[in-house]
Amino acid sequence: MTDQTPIENPLHGRMEAFRTRWSGAPAKMLVGGEWREAQSGETFTTEDPATGEQLAEVASAGQADVDAAVAAARTAFEGSWSKVKPDERARLINKLADLIEANGDELALIETLDVGRPIQFSRMMDVGGAISQLRYQAGWATKLQGETNEISAPGEWLSYVLREPVGVAGQIVPWNFPLAMACGKLGPALAAGCTVVLKPAEQTPLSTVRLGELALEAGFPEGVINIVTGFGRTAGAALASHMDVDKIAFTGSTQTGRAIIDASKSNFKRVSLELGGKSPTFIFADADLSKAIPAAAMGIFFNAGQVCAAGSRLFVQESVADQVLEGIAGMARMLRVGHTLDPETVIGPLVSEVQLDRVTGYIESGRVEGATIMVGGGRRDGQGWFVEPTVLVDTEASMAVRREEIFGPVLCAHRFSDAEDADRLARMGNETEFGLAASIWTRDITMAHKLARRLKAGTIRINGSGGVDPALPLGGFKSSGWGRENGRAGVEAYTELKAISVALG
Ligand code: ADP
Ligand code: MG
Repeated sequence: MTDQTPIENPLHGRMEAFRTRWSGAPAKMLVGGEWREAQSGETFTTEDPATGEQLAEVASAGQADVDAAVAAARTAFEGSWSKVKPDERARLINKLADLIEANGDELALIETLDVGRPIQFSRMMDVGGAISQLRYQAGWATKLQGETNEISAPGEWLSYVLREPVGVAGQIVPWNFPLAMACGKLGPALAAGCTVVLKPAEQTPLSTVRLGELALEAGFPEGVINIVTGFGRTAGAALASHMDVDKIAFTGSTQTGRAIIDASKSNFKRVSLELGGKSPTFIFADADLSKAIPAAAMGIFFNAGQVCAAGSRLFVQESVADQVLEGIAGMARMLRVGHTLDPETVIGPLVSEVQLDRVTGYIESGRVEGATIMVGGGRRDGQGWFVEPTVLVDTEASMAVRREEIFGPVLCAHRFSDAEDADRLARMGNETEFGLAASIWTRDITMAHKLARRLKAGTIRINGSGGVDPALPLGGFKSSGWGRENGRAGVEAYTELKAISVALG
């Protein structure tokens, strides 16, 4: 079902405010507490993926701007921010969460227009996700600890380990969840006592600019949070190779992750990477199919598949395969694809024409390699970068669509018959270079746990679905990245350990 007619709804009042806010002079960058144009004067435009319409012009950072932002972050790190006590850091992070909540409708609209997120999700997931990240991470500011250690050297010693902030953190965010991911990165860095230079993706800079305004309003000292908008190859690369950046936290494609590693070699900066995925969903015949079918469908179709942990491969037991695939295909036909401001839209557009070409190219490659298109399979006619929810059946492990991350609403299904063999099923699950997430649907708890142990995946759900929770470590095995964000591991990744031993006479 499709519908391109803009719908009358209360958002339209806020559209006026949006246009007034963003249609004037180009949006600036936040450097050392000031809003600045790019030193080159260059700008770029960001568009609404649902219409292709240009939304705003934004400053395009180059090396000089990144240098200035890093210098401001360094000054704040060595100066004002180092004197701010943990409870005050927590208060400021919580204050930022409160301001996001107070401005939630505005931020949701920004995210809907800039990212192409259907409005029914942006308030709950983007704004809600940002707030829950910050509130969770704020708690760590007062709970980080070092340790005391008994050493075996002769004599009497007092040995202790300090946990210190790593320093200036460069944070590079992708375009699929800009606000929530910016907050998921800012929160632990600030809690640990770091200062930050944050770069949103060039496709989706607007909510991060607004976040910078709210950070100033919250009262963060100047230079603690700096925002540089711009392209990956220029602003991103300048940040990743910068000699005075102590850590880079990156979320994005595996290919760009490799470039970040190369760039980080300049000064051996700490690197955390949350990269691609090709996550499997296993549905066994004994599963509660009334839950498993919609979860598997939304696991790949939500956000038009532009989710790193999307369940893009389905392994379904032969005896229920027809029923499950019919169910998922039925949802693919039924889910409302349409204008992102329509409150009933479930599936919005892909973020850009580049992504549209990439995803439709993959579908075509699957067809050429012998997969069957059960439902969907193409671009939706008309404006915007819409792809139909698609199910490919008869897929083989050798096909590109089964191995590579498509980042679109494309499910690759495969039937299995030997439901007793956890080793074999795990081998199928582990057959790609990725290891980000997995879902398992079965009432056999022994099989569920056996399979979960054997899968190389950072996040596994059994008989349920859901998104990121700040309390759980997030990241992947193999080519899905380095390290973990969120949870204790996530905040500790913004710290260095220092072992100090005092000889007691
Ligand atoms: P995509 O290819 O889908 O745009 P990327 O992984 O390239 O995904 O982008 C994620 C983020 O990484 C964006 O903020 C982008 O600007 C940034 N980026 C892209 N290339 C580089 C690079 N060479 N160095 C640093 N950051 C980069
Ligand atoms: Mg945009």
